[in-house]
Amino acid sequence: MIIEALSVFPEVFEGYMSASIMGRAQRAGLVEFRSHDLRDWTHDRHRTVDDEPYGGGAGMLMKVPPIAEAVAALSSTPGEPSPHVVFFTPSGAPFTQRAAERLAACDRILFVCGRYEGIDERAYALADERISIGDFVLTGGELAALVVTDAVVRLIPGALGDEMSNRDESFSTEEGGGLLEYAQYTRPAEFEGAGVPEVLLSGDHARVAAWRRRDAIERTCRWRPDLIETAALTAEERAWAREYIESSEKGV
Ligand code: SAM
Repeated sequence: MIIEALSVFPEVFEGYMSASIMGRAQRAGLVEFRSHDLRDWTHDRHRTVDDEPYGGGAGMLMKVPPIAEAVAALSSTPGEPSPHVVFFTPSGAPFTQRAAERLAACDRILFVCGRYEGIDERAYALADERISIGDFVLTGGELAALVVTDAVVRLIPGALGDEMSNRDESFSTEEGGGLLEYAQYTRPAEFEGAGVPEVLLSGDHARVAAWRRRDAIERTCRWRPDLIETAALTAEERAWAREYIESSEKGV
């Protein structure tokens, strides 16, 4: 898999992408990450990538020509598949684990990172999709590109080292069923009077699995009831979840 970022600050990716799991996945040849300087596709002395918005207003906008030239050049690198092109913008589709799972199936992804007041609207014609990482405004798309890259890379088989780690994590549509993850504990068994659920110390794998499933459903009902409708639940679990949510709403 190849993941690329087009940015006016290509150096910001270096530290994060060379550390820990991101670095290891690259050294293992599971993913190749490249960052490109958008200014390499400018043709003036000042390497200009932005200009004033038509109609006036504060700030500067990223111009279309360097972005269009860069995307065209990066889409036709010999011997490589053309990339799935993602633009980052607060107006994009909210990023989810489901989107990460979909992107993890791509051979090559190109992230286009905005800056300043954003990007000339016409550049979005080059996008296969637009993604937002949340209802807030960042200074640039680089952090969004790192967030999405991290979520995608950890889904590549072998990236985490332990294949099980991804399976029942929060939001995972695999074994997690789209729920929040159950509560987890490690040593010590007692900390300042707070213990660990007895079942987790029992060594009884079936009871542990049943407790975790029930805890995942309960936590999802409590903190993210919006996820329950689309979660993969049995009819019995769904009835229990609905009852839980209704009784919480009534303050029972
Ligand atoms: N004027 C724009 C607006 O109000 O929608 C915000 C521009 S923002 C300051 C500059 C760039 O940061 C955007 O072009 C985008 O690439 C990136 N960005 C900011 N917030 C983001 C978010 N929530 N998700 C994804 N990208 C974001």
